[in-house]
Amino acid sequence: MAASAARVATLAAAAGSLAELTARQSVCRACPRLVGWREQVAAVKRPSSRTERYWGRPVPGWGDEDARLLILGLAPAAHGGNRTGRIFTGDRSGDVLFASLHRCGLAVLPTSTAAGDGQRLIGARMVAAVRCAPPVNKPSVTERDTCAPWLAAEFALIAPSVGVIVCLGGFAWQSAWPMLRSAGFALPRPRPKFGHGGEVLLTGPGGPEGQVLLLGCYHPSQQNTFTGRVTPAMLDAVFGRACQAAGIGGAVSGGPGAHRSAPGVAPARWAGATH
Ligand code: SF4
Repeated sequence: MAASAARVATLAAAAGSLAELTARQSVCRACPRLVGWREQVAAVKRPSSRTERYWGRPVPGWGDEDARLLILGLAPAAHGGNRTGRIFTGDRSGDVLFASLHRCGLAVLPTSTAAGDGQRLIGARMVAAVRCAPPVNKPSVTERDTCAPWLAAEFALIAPSVGVIVCLGGFAWQSAWPMLRSAGFALPRPRPKFGHGGEVLLTGPGGPEGQVLLLGCYHPSQQNTFTGRVTPAMLDAVFGRACQAAGIGGAVSGGPGAHRSAPGVAPARWAGATH
């Protein structure tokens, strides 16, 4: 069990499979503040969920193990992923996000309410930069950095298939750089700023054959959706672009294997030196 940042790094780096990584991560206690919060929320519960058993632990990545598209979020919600055990499941952000993924042919259902609800991602995988629910949805920089090896290890295991990464919000955008660097990607200098619809094409250790398109998207948080900062049409536009670049999506009934087609990544809008 990881009880320190150093142990997180050691245990994450030595995980040889996604299943092993999930098992190691699921008992992590390296961030005292987040461990206390996730367990307190799970014990107290909200009134509407008082009969439910909360997950109350780190929330693992979820979806296709050969994903063409990686969706990177911030952290589980206290009564969402921290309750259901599945990222973006059982909260308002997930309601908006999964509706868009379904419209774009990336999820078999328009809703994601509970683990075991029949939902399935198509050619996509979903992960959080920080795996435990933070108070007021705000992890500290130290907590982000402590959790980073879990994210880097997960990306290393799926990187051979990933062609597009959608970062939901600036926190995820910032978290993507160390994850990509650790996987051997050449990073631009200066780092491009986060923006909705922003794109950066990155070259991995395999050269042009291993390019990944990084896409920015406003986080579908309640604050952003209530204020209209991000709308369903805006989410659809980003995920539509991701589908086009990754060679996946389209009709939900498109069938398995559709995501294995050529990536078809378009030219990046950003160009600059790499580091
Ligand atoms: S946030 Fe990450 S590193 Fe911190 S306790 Fe949770 S799983 Fe462990």
